[in-house]
Amino acid sequence: MSKLTNKAAIITGASSGIGKAIAHHLAKEGANVVLAARRSERLQELAEEIQKEHGTEAKVVETDVTKKADVENLVKQTKESFGSVDVFVNNAGVMLLSFLKNDHVDEWEQMVDVNIKGVLYGIHAALPDMLEQGSGHMINVSSVAGHEVFPSSTVYSATKYAVKALSMGLEKELARSNVRVTNISPGAVDTELTEHITDGDVLEMFKDRSMQPLEAEDIASAVTYAVTQPSNVNVNEIIVRPLHQS
Ligand code: NDP
Repeated sequence: MSKLTNKAAIITGASSGIGKAIAHHLAKEGANVVLAARRSERLQELAEEIQKEHGTEAKVVETDVTKKADVENLVKQTKESFGSVDVFVNNAGVMLLSFLKNDHVDEWEQMVDVNIKGVLYGIHAALPDMLEQGSGHMINVSSVAGHEVFPSSTVYSATKYAVKALSMGLEKELARSNVRVTNISPGAVDTELTEHITDGDVLEMFKDRSMQPLEAEDIASAVTYAVTQPSNVNVNEIIVRPLHQS
């Protein structure tokens, strides 16, 4: 029997990059996975891949994490299918890097909505069930930019510092419960994340970058490590960055 057999794991932002890799890794460890994002065709393809490769169940729930009712529905559907919510990975996020002087105010709002409110809705929807079950694991994906601020990362960093604060507060509040909390902070990872940046000055700055980023699997391995520890081991913080990223 694998370590996560009969556990139900929800992964938001599972339609690409890190979330997709986490879904594969947790399914490989035996978890039934619930795949959440807006692009449901991609999630459907992933569900088929997972069922074929790992033999566990994979359920698709189209979800916009900026909509509280969608995230509530995500947890409801998970309980109906699997009876519990054992792991909730708050991974969905956007990184619309820009310089403050260029005033991308709509993108600031989008980052606040997805990266902060989305995580809060995940906590709102899943935590009461975890407390009632007497077990569970909340994983919040922050960033190295949630520990340091870089030119153009100011608003993104503000949202990822917020994620870190939510993780820390949650961990302290839940210290006497059986619900574990992990904040994971990746450095640069090769995903679609940077494809949505629109600020011309940032795109120009990125042309000179030559660092080799991590693969999504590197972050999925770290998440799997935290989730598969004995139930009394609470891995609270993991920072993983590529060699040569300063
Ligand atoms: P991707 O762009 O590949 O994936 C982002 C995911 O978030 C997609 O599945 C997307 O799905 C989902 N998403 C975006 N908006 C919403 C929304 N409103 N509702 C539901 N899902 C949404 O990037 P990554 O895999 O790299 O990013 C995953 C996480 O890792 C993010 O939180 C990011 O900030 C963090 N991170 C990434 C780093 C990197 O270098 N790649 C470094 C540090 C942290 P869809 O569009 O289908 O809704």
